[in-house]
Amino acid sequence: MASSLRTKLRIATTVLGARGFWDALAGRFLWQPQIPSPPLVPTKSETEREGVGQSEERAEAGGSVRGSATWLRGALHVHTCTYSDGAGTIEEVMDAAKAAGVDFVLLTDHNTMRPKADGLEERYAGQTPFLIVGDEITVKGGAFLLALDMPGEFEFAPGHDPQVAIDAILAVGGLPLVSLPDDMKHPWDAWDATGCEGLEALNLSTVAREHINLLSLAWLLPLWKSKGELAVLRALCTRPDASLASWDRLLALGKKQIGLGALDAHALMKIGKKKHPIPSYENSFRAVTTHILATPTPAAIHAAIRAGHCYFAYDCLGELALEFRSLPPPGGGQGVGIMGDEAPVGATLTATGPETALLRLYKAGEGVVAAGKGTLHYRAESPGAYRVEAYLVGAQRGPFFVGARPWGFTNPIYVV
Ligand SMILES: [Zn+2]
Repeated sequence: MASSLRTKLRIATTVLGARGFWDALAGRFLWQPQIPSPPLVPTKSETEREGVGQSEERAEAGGSVRGSATWLRGALHVHTCTYSDGAGTIEEVMDAAKAAGVDFVLLTDHNTMRPKADGLEERYAGQTPFLIVGDEITVKGGAFLLALDMPGEFEFAPGHDPQVAIDAILAVGGLPLVSLPDDMKHPWDAWDATGCEGLEALNLSTVAREHINLLSLAWLLPLWKSKGELAVLRALCTRPDASLASWDRLLALGKKQIGLGALDAHALMKIGKKKHPIPSYENSFRAVTTHILATPTPAAIHAAIRAGHCYFAYDCLGELALEFRSLPPPGGGQGVGIMGDEAPVGATLTATGPETALLRLYKAGEGVVAAGKGTLHYRAESPGAYRVEAYLVGAQRGPFFVGARPWGFTNPIYVV
């Protein structure tokens, strides 16, 4: 066989075998037999809530369950040119965040807490959007850790063993999280290290790297030319299977693990030898946000992340309002719990989202129950970490959900 033909064949097999292409295709035709939810026995607090609209109910979740907290949307994991390798200055990043309509930005420049020492959190305090400064630490082998809730004077050289870096973050009271856990370029492989409190269960850059290949470019490039960059980002909204599997593996070990949706936004993409200013900060901030139940201060956001009171979503498909709560078993127990909380065995888990959402409940990576029309109830008779995934549905044909798009992911409720 001529060598050029062999090369062509090899490229064709590589391209057709690219996971992203088949994932994207499969996602459009989701087969989801619905297991009927057991009937919900209303508790006293539920009966009192009857007739309350969803927006009021959301306000109530913030009001009665967590004081004056409300759902705030954040753009997480952002780089600037002032402190590391992003394309824009702090001012440009914050302008883009304002244009995108997010409530706060979590800055994570490489191996530095200097933006905090320089007083940037104070500069944006009380404004919308406000700014939170974290650190992205490079460990030995080139993988990354996010270090949140850190003191401004923290200094730590890149290239240390992952466990040494985690211990250094914990020693100053910080929150270590695995960044880009299953990235093609920078995968995390120190899963036996201890002390990490969670991971980026969705990272937009990882998703983009997985799904942009020769085959997908054939339709992404015309889409970009005709409909623009945000349309391309919408086309990339696929289920981050590998990162979710890593999260589920940790949860199945009985660990409490926080899941976040992150961007790794640089507003720069290397194509060939040149760097291009894509995707823009603004469009990245519109694509994926983490919704956090908190008051608008860095301290409250950190506390809510630590508590797992958050979910993350492809908000470029539509801003997703999602609730996941536990109601105590009939006859007593604790009050209403929310994502991140513990609930007793026998508690009823309820998830609510928009009418157009298919909701799937997962435990240890296995689908437990699914329900359309944005409402799901399930009595949790066995312990474990239960989390919900929401899908935006085009139309339902029997067990097939046509045009289904992964939309949002909650943190777990831990049934103990
Ligand atoms: Zn980064």
